[in-house]
Amino acid sequence: MKISYALVISLTSGLLSTVQAQSPSTAANPLPLFDAHIHYSHDAWEVVPPADVIKLMRTAGLKRAMVSSSNDDGTQKLYSLAPDLIVPSLRPYRTRAEVSTWIRDPSVVEHLKTRLARYRYAAVGEFHLYGADAELPVPRAMIALARQYQLILHAHSDADAIERIFAQYPQARVVWAHSGFARASEVAVLLRKYPKLWADFAFRSDMAAGSGVDPEWRAVIQEFPDRFMVGTDTFTPERLAYIPDHAQFSRRWIGALAPDIAQQVAWENGERMIQQVWQPCDATQSDARVIERDGVRVAYRLLQPPRISQPITMLVASCSIAPSSGTQAKLELKAFDATMPEHRHGMNYKPTVQSQGPSAAFDARLIEGIVLHMAGRWQFSFEVQVGEKTVRLTDTMLLR
Ligand SMILES: [Zn+2]
Repeated sequence: MKISYALVISLTSGLLSTVQAQSPSTAANPLPLFDAHIHYSHDAWEVVPPADVIKLMRTAGLKRAMVSSSNDDGTQKLYSLAPDLIVPSLRPYRTRAEVSTWIRDPSVVEHLKTRLARYRYAAVGEFHLYGADAELPVPRAMIALARQYQLILHAHSDADAIERIFAQYPQARVVWAHSGFARASEVAVLLRKYPKLWADFAFRSDMAAGSGVDPEWRAVIQEFPDRFMVGTDTFTPERLAYIPDHAQFSRRWIGALAPDIAQQVAWENGERMIQQVWQPCDATQSDARVIERDGVRVAYRLLQPPRISQPITMLVASCSIAPSSGTQAKLELKAFDATMPEHRHGMNYKPTVQSQGPSAAFDARLIEGIVLHMAGRWQFSFEVQVGEKTVRLTDTMLLR
């Protein structure tokens, strides 16, 4: 008897890379948010399962979420469910307890190297680092890895440690977690000094004043409208359920800023920052299969080892690798198929890839329920639309 599985292409929200002007937030059309500060650590996995976390994020209207977890498996669980939404950041901690010990623990460096060899990340952090501890060998090695892999550093630090990070790595891109819990005027001093320093407002509320914005913070945000972003900081499992409420809180105070500045703080700043480092199909350091043709790269990863007649989920990222002359052509994965060229047939059920709308930077999505019903040589084909042209890329796999 043949067992059939319905093929489901997950609906992920469209990836807008070009920053578009949008009308101000309304109930029906809430301001999208880039949440720079989400954790999904080991003690949260059972309390709030991964699919529920993604649901909370989508309900909250998050466009992207920079996620880091102790240990990193939490981040990978979320990323494999929603590659369009999750921006992975690699934490140096394997357990919550390492927050204060990691700076003197050389095994942290091995941990970072192992994960960097296996997965792709946009950032390293959030890590806790203060003052002269930034000169210790382990933090130095981490900063060197950030340089090597072109990663943003997400630093829960005092001003002194931020200065020391830039002294070690002057081209660094740093997100100052919680804006250092510093006063607005103190944050401004460092933003003036370092053009590649951003700051998140995670776990603080002093920038919101009544139904408006604190005047001291307003002045600094107006001076640096392109450097601030919001963050929930889900440092305990219970705070995951708070993501939608926190999004509403953020929209309230951001809404009291000028509309163009509100857009930037809500999501454009995070989006612009990661686009310089985050191309999920630049899979040179991951275990993904990478194929290229006519200026298009497709990187895919099977999330289960392929077995006959067992449904497989595939994570597919596509991006343009053609040198862009100014404006980049928009790109979208239009179709996926698996066939057996020697047998001249395909799968019993052909997946249809639903449109998410073209994006200029990358297309990332899951294709679920791929069923390869017999052993032999299978050919995967990916149809990617780039501007006006369609590029078809193929790869083969032997199923035993
Ligand atoms: Zn923190």
